[in-house]
Amino acid sequence: MLTDNFGRRFYYLRLSITDVCNFRCDYCLPEGYQCDHDRDFLSFKEIQRIARAFASLGTEKIRITGGEPSLRKDLPEILAACKTTPGIKKLAITTNGYKLSSQIHDWKDAGLDALNVSIDSLDPRQFHAITGHNKLQEILSGVDQAVTLGLSQVKINTVLMREYNGSDIDTFLNFVKETPVTLRFIELMQTGDNQVFFNKQHVQGSRIKQQLVLDGWLPVIKEKSSGPAQEFYHPNYKGKIGLIMPYSKDFCASCNRLRISALGKLHLCLFADQGLSLREHIQNNDPAPLIAAISSLLNDKKASHFLHKKLTGATKNLSMLGG
Ligand code: SAM
Ligand code: SF4
Repeated sequence: MLTDNFGRRFYYLRLSITDVCNFRCDYCLPEGYQCDHDRDFLSFKEIQRIARAFASLGTEKIRITGGEPSLRKDLPEILAACKTTPGIKKLAITTNGYKLSSQIHDWKDAGLDALNVSIDSLDPRQFHAITGHNKLQEILSGVDQAVTLGLSQVKINTVLMREYNGSDIDTFLNFVKETPVTLRFIELMQTGDNQVFFNKQHVQGSRIKQQLVLDGWLPVIKEKSSGPAQEFYHPNYKGKIGLIMPYSKDFCASCNRLRISALGKLHLCLFADQGLSLREHIQNNDPAPLIAAISSLLNDKKASHFLHKKLTGATKNLSMLGG
């Protein structure tokens, strides 16, 4: 089992398969995707090798992310390969939902268990303003289809932004009253590129948590491969609410995930100073050097990120790495 110097175990791999994205979310890629490197993304075979190596080290859950992962034509094959890797029990994806309604059947057939869709506003005009795409209704219909198809988890990620959705919390609560999904409010994180936006828009999730508790919401017990969200349920609501508060004390103490970028670099933290290239080993048919490299590099994992000191490491935006 992959264990670091602080006793944390790594059950969960976030695997980015492209850093290209077609959206222009204000906090992530406000000018749209700009490529500053060769588009030499992990091949299908390389992805298969990574999944096998991590599974042999005890990884049980893989999340496919990006950029926007649905922009890859071989996404269904990638999903199927990850799902059929011995040892992988749960396969998840994070998507902006652009292709959700047309592709969710294929993803489910490929073995997808869990879906996260990013929706930062339930107001179509506001959604358009944030992402550059007038697609809210279509994406919500894709979410409905995913629920109907019986995926074991359907979640919505909502980045909290003071002037965009900070006063709309009741709209999101009303949505989960009737919709059986988990909607997670994510605190905006500072990255290398979004400092001015961050300073203006960051709001803490702790106030929402206090309100939920006062209103009778109860904490959900976590699984070992769960993410850092604190989730709550309420008997009168079909859905749940989650909070991801990366600036809260001890956020990193329960870290259980590692990240691989679309260029084959291991990132020990979302805000690490650098990605550690595994490409040479990933291109090798023999899995032993890759497995040894992952285990040994893990010794350098730090106890915590340094976001509270405004140190964002090498991360210019989260599309580089998949969040
Ligand atoms: N394109 C896909 C999507 O948007 O779902 C997957 C990649 S995106 C980088 C993964 C998640 O990171 C999304 O839920 C997005 O909202 C979130 N995200 C991106 N930049 C962020 C930031 N600066 N702070 C907090 N969350 C962020
Ligand atoms: Fe694209 Fe996701 Fe970043 Fe939005 S958050 S620009 S959808 S990578």
